[in-house]
Amino acid sequence: MTGASSSANAQHGLTDRLARWARGLSGKADDEAMDLPEQPQRARHGSASSREIIRRRKLYEDIGDFLFAHDLDLTPLNFGVAHDYLTGSHIGVEKAVKAVLTERGKITNGWVENVAAEQRNDEVTPEALASMLDKVEENLSQFTGLMTESRNSAKDYGAALQEEVKGLAAGSDSQPVLARLVALTRSMVEKTRQVETQLRDNQKQTQLLKSNLESARRAAEHDHLTGLPNRRAFEGTLREELAQAQKEGQPLAVAFCDIDHFKLINDTHGHDTGDRVLKFVAGLLSKASNDQCHVARHGGEEFVMLFRGKTAAEACEAVDGVRQDLSTRSLVNRSNGERMERVSFSAGVANVLAYEDPRAALKAADRALYLAKEHGRNRVYLAAELD
Ligand code: GH3
Ligand code: MG
Ligand code: MG
Repeated sequence: MTGASSSANAQHGLTDRLARWARGLSGKADDEAMDLPEQPQRARHGSASSREIIRRRKLYEDIGDFLFAHDLDLTPLNFGVAHDYLTGSHIGVEKAVKAVLTERGKITNGWVENVAAEQRNDEVTPEALASMLDKVEENLSQFTGLMTESRNSAKDYGAALQEEVKGLAAGSDSQPVLARLVALTRSMVEKTRQVETQLRDNQKQTQLLKSNLESARRAAEHDHLTGLPNRRAFEGTLREELAQAQKEGQPLAVAFCDIDHFKLINDTHGHDTGDRVLKFVAGLLSKASNDQCHVARHGGEEFVMLFRGKTAAEACEAVDGVRQDLSTRSLVNRSNGERMERVSFSAGVANVLAYEDPRAALKAADRALYLAKEHGRNRVYLAAELD
């Protein structure tokens, strides 16, 4: 549901943009047009807004041309990505589009969805989380308020009842007392019903918020393509594991794994096949993971592994096992049934505790990976042996 809330944000942004365009196209000036240097009111207003209209019309046409050139469907998502790319208003989107255009010259509906999902992952935290937490807090205080209200109503009812009972015992005319008791009870029943309804609504909302929060957390910490934890989640895990390892005097090793010549796989078999290879490798690495071994997608075709309780040499052996497993497999390109060339990865492993901070350990593993690539790829190098 984070998805729901963040895509709601994205939609909201898009709706805003469309509304601004519509205002611009219908000739109404907007805030941007007001931001010009001081000039006589009428002249400034007229020329600024007509320039603005021309600019917007041009942008509108450019977006249309872009969608048409890439044979993209007319969806809000495609529209939004085209807008962000053409106006440069979202650096992440602009970079991703430029990269794929340089690489393949064309973008597809599926690719746009992936990019949008990636950007959403980045957008989901921390503001969205913070606002959801605020709502949960607000809900809880409302809940407490309702409970107090309900308790007070019950107290009032009890006190009123006692008064009436006193009246009864004193032998006053029982008919009106009974009528008053009935009225009192009715009003209490009504009040209880109201409180109950409010509580139920509140509970539903809290439930919804809880599931929103849960999805927000998942989206913020998981890579949408492979389902693995992402770099953000990994960095948190690394900090926690390091503190634990230092406390318990346990070894801790980190490995960077990078698929070999992955660009060539994309170029030869297409981006979608590249994605499937990524998922496949992620699956193999995850098989090696357990509560002593975390695997995450660090970005692109790069994965990172963290081994608790293993020395760097032992971790190296474990990673090499996965490397061998992958390099002896013969993969088939599902889209055309053709057998693919062997897929392999190279890796660099470092002892986290041998460096002054986790960042330095990651750098050392990365250096070892670089050397593994230099020396022919499809191999795992240990940083300690090289430094
Ligand atoms: P090397 O052996 O030196 O690592 O070569 P390489 O081709 O693997 O490395 P390079 O960094 O040149 O290219 C990585 C490519 O991975 C480029 C990029 O388009 C591609 N890539 C990154 N993320 C994804 C993804 O999510 N899906 C697909 N299909 N390709 C991706
Ligand atoms: Mg790489
Ligand atoms: Mg690579």
